[in-house]
Amino acid sequence: MICAFCGEKIIDDGLFVLGNYICALCESKLVTIKANDTNYDFYKSGLKKMWRCAGACSPSAEIILASLARR
Ligand SMILES: [Zn+2]
Repeated sequence: MICAFCGEKIIDDGLFVLGNYICALCESKLVTIKANDTNYDFYKSGLKKMWRCAGACSPSAEIILASLARR
Protein backbone atom coordinates (compact mmCIF):
# COMPACT_ATOMS: atom_id res chain seq x y z
CA MET A 1 0.00 0.00 0.00
CA ILE A 2 1.20 3.52 -0.77
CA CYS A 3 0.26 6.18 1.70
CA ALA A 4 -1.59 9.04 0.02
CA PHE A 5 0.23 11.54 2.21
CA CYS A 6 3.85 10.57 2.67
CA GLY A 7 4.13 8.22 -0.32
CA GLU A 8 5.71 5.53 1.79
CA LYS A 9 5.03 1.96 0.84
CA ILE A 10 3.94 0.44 4.09
CA ILE A 11 2.32 -2.79 5.07
CA ASP A 12 0.62 -2.04 8.33
CA ASP A 13 -2.77 -1.30 9.71
CA GLY A 14 -3.39 2.13 8.32
CA LEU A 15 -6.83 3.04 7.15
CA PHE A 16 -8.69 3.52 3.90
CA VAL A 17 -10.68 6.66 3.42
CA LEU A 18 -12.67 6.96 0.21
CA GLY A 19 -10.27 4.61 -1.51
CA ASN A 20 -7.13 6.37 -0.31
CA TYR A 21 -4.71 4.64 1.99
CA ILE A 22 -3.34 6.55 4.95
CA CYS A 23 -0.54 4.93 6.91
CA ALA A 24 -0.76 4.67 10.70
CA LEU A 25 1.89 7.37 11.10
CA CYS A 26 0.06 9.92 8.97
CA GLU A 27 -3.24 8.96 10.54
CA SER A 28 -1.96 9.74 14.01
CA LYS A 29 -0.40 12.94 12.71
CA LEU A 30 -3.70 13.96 11.16
CA VAL A 31 -5.72 13.52 14.30
CA THR A 32 -3.21 15.24 16.58
CA ILE A 33 -1.90 18.06 14.40
CA LYS A 34 -2.51 21.57 15.60
CA ALA A 35 -3.45 24.51 13.42
CA ASN A 36 -0.15 26.22 14.24
CA ASP A 37 1.94 23.21 13.23
CA THR A 38 4.21 23.91 10.25
CA ASN A 39 2.89 20.78 8.55
CA TYR A 40 -0.76 21.66 9.11
CA ASP A 41 -1.30 23.19 5.68
CA PHE A 42 0.39 20.22 4.06
CA TYR A 43 -1.96 17.76 5.67
CA LYS A 44 -4.98 19.95 5.21
CA SER A 45 -4.40 20.48 1.51
CA GLY A 46 -3.63 16.79 1.17
CA LEU A 47 -7.02 16.01 2.65
CA LYS A 48 -8.71 18.46 0.35
CA LYS A 49 -7.10 16.85 -2.68
CA MET A 50 -8.04 13.42 -1.45
CA TRP A 51 -11.65 14.22 -0.86
CA ARG A 52 -12.24 16.34 -3.91
CA CYS A 53 -15.05 14.76 -5.84
CA ALA A 54 -15.87 16.58 -9.04
CA GLY A 55 -15.24 19.75 -7.06
CA ALA A 56 -18.72 19.65 -5.62
CA CYS A 57 -19.20 17.23 -2.78
CA SER A 58 -16.02 17.36 -0.74
CA PRO A 59 -16.48 18.04 2.95
CA SER A 60 -14.13 20.53 4.52
CA ALA A 61 -10.83 19.32 5.90
CA GLU A 62 -12.00 20.31 9.36
CA ILE A 63 -14.98 17.95 9.18
CA ILE A 64 -12.73 15.11 8.01
CA LEU A 65 -10.22 15.73 10.78
CA ALA A 66 -13.02 15.80 13.34
CA SER A 67 -14.42 12.51 12.11
CA LEU A 68 -10.96 10.93 12.16
CA ALA A 69 -10.40 12.14 15.69
CA ARG A 70 -13.61 10.49 16.83
CA ARG A 71 -12.49 7.01 15.80
ZN1 LIG B 1 1.91 8.16 5.50
